[in-house]
Amino acid sequence: MRRKSGSDPAVEQPEVDWDGQMRPYGTELSVMFAIGGLSALAIAGYAGYRFVTGDWLEGVVNSTIFSAIAISLLLARVERWQSTAMLLFGVVITLSCMASALLIGSNGLLWAYLVFWVNTFLLLHPAALTLNTSAILVLGSQARLFTSTLEQISWVTVAIMITAFGMYYAGLMRRQRRLLRRLATHDSLTGVGNRRLMQHRLEQAVEASRENRRPCTLVVLDLDHFKQINDGHGHEAGDQALCSFARQLENSLREGDGLYRMGGEEFVMLLRDMDLDAARQAVPRLHRRLSGCVDGPDGPIRFSAGAATLRKGESWSRWLARADHALYEAKRSGRNSLIVAD
Ligand code: GH3
Ligand code: MG
Ligand code: MG
Repeated sequence: MRRKSGSDPAVEQPEVDWDGQMRPYGTELSVMFAIGGLSALAIAGYAGYRFVTGDWLEGVVNSTIFSAIAISLLLARVERWQSTAMLLFGVVITLSCMASALLIGSNGLLWAYLVFWVNTFLLLHPAALTLNTSAILVLGSQARLFTSTLEQISWVTVAIMITAFGMYYAGLMRRQRRLLRRLATHDSLTGVGNRRLMQHRLEQAVEASRENRRPCTLVVLDLDHFKQINDGHGHEAGDQALCSFARQLENSLREGDGLYRMGGEEFVMLLRDMDLDAARQAVPRLHRRLSGCVDGPDGPIRFSAGAATLRKGESWSRWLARADHALYEAKRSGRNSLIVAD
């Protein structure tokens, strides 16, 4: 089908790393790599200096800290280990700053403030609270680290405040990011995934099928004579019909399938684990069941659809174009029909 939306070269799209933005721990990992990378470099320098000056104990302590940070940064590069890596990183920096304050000197107390904030930013509340409370109890109870009781009380107070505000801020930020991610990836009228999420999911499906060779089918569908609803009953009636139709499509999906609004009254269904033979059986059944199942102001709302099963080595855009072309053929054949592309 010919499309106007999204294809206008005059509308400049800002360059956004959607893949990165859609990852659950994207911001946390960036902070961890920045702080962890810098700390590892600084600690490696210290370790070298200690060994050169013959201070073997501190040299070994610094080398151990460097290795533990490096391991957690390497672990964080593997997607399924990311949350474990962040927890390990929090444990490592907390124990390191405690060891530094207890073994080397009270300067380590200042590092503790940075560590407390990083923990609240990177870790879930229970983990951050456990680590920070343990460090505050252990370090705050060592009178020898402070020049006076007043200084000891002040350090503990500031440490508690950093932990409390850090957790509060991290909670606000996570809620806000969830909301932004939802706004950026879902259609505001029907609540189904938007075109951006669709592209992301199609790219993922192509990637996954390259790795595990599992087949995948997509269906592009377009409501028939939808304009008549708008023209005859107003835009609001059209909106209402779109929402009811989207709900029906959603209810027909299996776990792991996807539904996206590509624009206007066109939707895309992504059906996992469905090869061409299965699609030839299942998609016509789906069309018979859903076309006409929603009542509009002028009677049942019907739709035309085109389906295509991902081919070996095919790009997501080529795959979508084949399904779109099948939809075009279905429209040409008289509407309320479905064509599965060969
Ligand atoms: P065809 O069978 O050829 O698909 O005919 P059609 O009338 O459905 O197709 P056409 O593309 O000519 O019209 C689509 C209409 O969908 C035009 C536009 O007014 C309407 N539309 C697009 N987005 C929305 C929306 O968000 N809300 C409402 N109410 N209407 C919309
Ligand atoms: Mg239409
Ligand atoms: Mg259309």
